[in-house]
Amino acid sequence: MSQQQPIIVQKFGGSSVADVAGIRRVAAHAVATRRSGKRVVVVVSAMGKTTDQLVQLAHEVTPTPDRRELDMLLTAGERISMAILAMAIRDLGEPATSMTGSQCGIITNDAPGGARIVEVRAFRVQDALDAGQIVIVAGFQGVSWKKEVTTLGRGGSDTTAVALAAALSAEACEIYSDVDGVYSADPRKVTDARRLDELGHDEMLAMARAGAKVLGADAVAWARLHDVALYARATDGRPGETIVRLNPPADRPWIAAATLRPQCVLLNWSGDVANLATTLDTSAVPPIFSLQLPTQTLLLVGRDVADAVDSQFGRLIDRLREMPDTAGRLPTLVSGTLVSIVGPGVGRECDLLTPFRAALHTHLNAETPVLAHGLTLSCLLPPDQADAAVAALHAAFLGGAA
Ligand code: ADP
Ligand code: ASP
Ligand code: MG
Repeated sequence: MSQQQPIIVQKFGGSSVADVAGIRRVAAHAVATRRSGKRVVVVVSAMGKTTDQLVQLAHEVTPTPDRRELDMLLTAGERISMAILAMAIRDLGEPATSMTGSQCGIITNDAPGGARIVEVRAFRVQDALDAGQIVIVAGFQGVSWKKEVTTLGRGGSDTTAVALAAALSAEACEIYSDVDGVYSADPRKVTDARRLDELGHDEMLAMARAGAKVLGADAVAWARLHDVALYARATDGRPGETIVRLNPPADRPWIAAATLRPQCVLLNWSGDVANLATTLDTSAVPPIFSLQLPTQTLLLVGRDVADAVDSQFGRLIDRLREMPDTAGRLPTLVSGTLVSIVGPGVGRECDLLTPFRAALHTHLNAETPVLAHGLTLSCLLPPDQADAAVAALHAAFLGGAA
């Protein structure tokens, strides 16, 4: 019976559904999965660069698009993909129904541009699956309790897929993209990067936050909370995958990856800490790293990929810039790209700082802070040095037989 068949959630990103040929490939994939005896939910992103184009369109109309209307506009991208994919699947002879985030019960808070999922009421999806339908879901969107349409932040279709997989107790959540898994560095930039067979949720979350965008950080955080195993695979059918799960094998490497995250800012401030807390609300852009000493505060923030128009980040930086310390001095703000190594060894190995500094000796000076946060060891570098620095870290910590 249909209800006994396992549920599989498959997510396909923008590059996988960029054109009609891509849509047909995804349709064939979903149909083959259905015919292998699974109940199938397919989460899709907007076609190709549609979301970027819609953001640009809004900016051609006004430099400060209204957040609510921007969400209305951006959700249209995923609607196009879902309807076209449902048509393609029907064309292959299987029943398919498309649903918006709202229709499939993805309830969010009221933060336009980067809403958080608070609840998933997936009854309609469940009913459609039980009726034998392949369900196509528009990623990256939900609806608030006030019935406002919201978006989940850039890259948010991954979060849709994981949230649905958890709500439906799916057997697997498969994230398909243009790479065949999670690598020890971005394989487009570091040619000898290696695919990682298995990773823990914690280290994948640290990698995503440090810039490895192959899986979205919010999605991994949700997967960790609800114990959803993630399978990162290539859409083009290349063999190989990375499995992200709660308890990966203990004998995996202590350093998993070298990463970079563009557009970060480090604040170095020597004012009154109580004053900092009252003038600065970082809830919209939570710091990646913060350190408070009696006379010094270090705060590292990144432009949130969730922030389609950059405004929350921009507002925070403006406030930081204008914040004099008790002696009336303005803070030091350094912008750059965050370059990191990530793995369970950070915080456990006695001295990673020395080899980290040694690997980056041509990039760092004695004053450049190296920051340890969770499973990550990072420094901020000028953007034009970031690729070379990641390659150097990869060679030092992950190269050869390491
Ligand atoms: P999608 O649009 O399908 O969601 P993304 O562009 O978000 O796909 O993610 C895939 C991209 O992530 C790859 O093209 C790759 O360049 C990049 N990437 C960055 N870091 C890594 C990494 N450590 N392993 C694999 N891919 C990575
Ligand atoms: N289309 C959205 C974006 O480009 C969501 C996603 O692709 O996951 O950010
Ligand atoms: Mg993505």
